[in-house]
Amino acid sequence: MIDLRSDTLTRPTPEMLAAMAAAPVGDDVYGEDPTINALEAKVAAMLGHEAGLFVTTGSMGNLLGIWSLVAPGQEVVCDVRAHIARAEMGAHAALHGTTMRTWTSPDGVTDAATIASVITPDAGPYLVSTAAVALENTHNFGGGTVQPYQHLVEVSALCRDAGVGLHLDGARLWNAHVATGVPLADYGRLFDTVNVCFSKGLGAPVGSMLVASAEVIAKARVQRKRLGGGWRQAGVLAAAADYALEHHLPRLGEDHVAAKAFAEQVVALAPDAVDVSSVATNIVVLSTGTRPAAEVAKAAAEAGVLVSALGAHMVRAVTYQQISLDQAASAGQILGGILAA
Ligand SMILES: *Cc1c(COP(=O)(O)O)cnc(C)c1O
Repeated sequence: MIDLRSDTLTRPTPEMLAAMAAAPVGDDVYGEDPTINALEAKVAAMLGHEAGLFVTTGSMGNLLGIWSLVAPGQEVVCDVRAHIARAEMGAHAALHGTTMRTWTSPDGVTDAATIASVITPDAGPYLVSTAAVALENTHNFGGGTVQPYQHLVEVSALCRDAGVGLHLDGARLWNAHVATGVPLADYGRLFDTVNVCFSKGLGAPVGSMLVASAEVIAKARVQRKRLGGGWRQAGVLAAAADYALEHHLPRLGEDHVAAKAFAEQVVALAPDAVDVSSVATNIVVLSTGTRPAAEVAKAAAEAGVLVSALGAHMVRAVTYQQISLDQAASAGQILGGILAA
């Protein structure tokens, strides 16, 4: 079985497990886990921010980042296919009273003009005031697409001028960085709060990091505990994340090559399924045309390939460390055959 449902399926390597076993640890609620403290300082510096908070999941990082920018009853605006809107189980509303409004965009790629047309800062007594904008880079359900750096610069300026906060869901910012060569800190400095994940293509079993100002992180640390997210000797997990940054970040480009190979094999048989030139990182979103996505995913599973049905006519395939170039290409042939039938 070639399992392309998600890069969250990446498994820890024996070397990563050894690094976890060797990590010095302490009680993180007391601020005494040296491996976590070192990781928080390292990732904050990598992203050009003052401080970091190691958290269980990307959802928790996004939840705390947006909470720090948006008061109850205010809104965050984001893409209609954003992970925060579709895949976080309504947590922003259910737990923090955050309302959301969305814009639509081709492949999840956004420009400043679209956002300028949607935000309503200081809307007065009749409309909901926009307190923050949230962007996703790379864009997961958009097909692993990369936000053009110039767009981000313009959105950042727009938000700062309007007094609106700016959050980055950078679950796969690593992939954007590898695809474009833009330094991580150049991305990070454009945003007030940034969440990054170690548990996707980087291959750590657990963990994400919120970075922001020291003041925001101090408050987020309290709110994390309130949500039940305080943890103790979690340095074993920080060690996995650190190992991933040192050893797996440099190999992420291989996943991008494999995703491209997958897409090329698909379009050789089913030319309308995807625009290969839009495949920028490790995610390929295929259009199933008039066929229900679930039916295509089922046929693929019977032929030995697992993909995710993420929309009525959209399936997603994701490459990661345990998927070889050959496996990606043969999976592409299988999907292409099914879509051409
Ligand atoms: C995976 C992901 C997250 C975080 O997911 P968790 O399962 O909560 O770690 C956030 N944003 C995007 C775009 C993601 O793909």
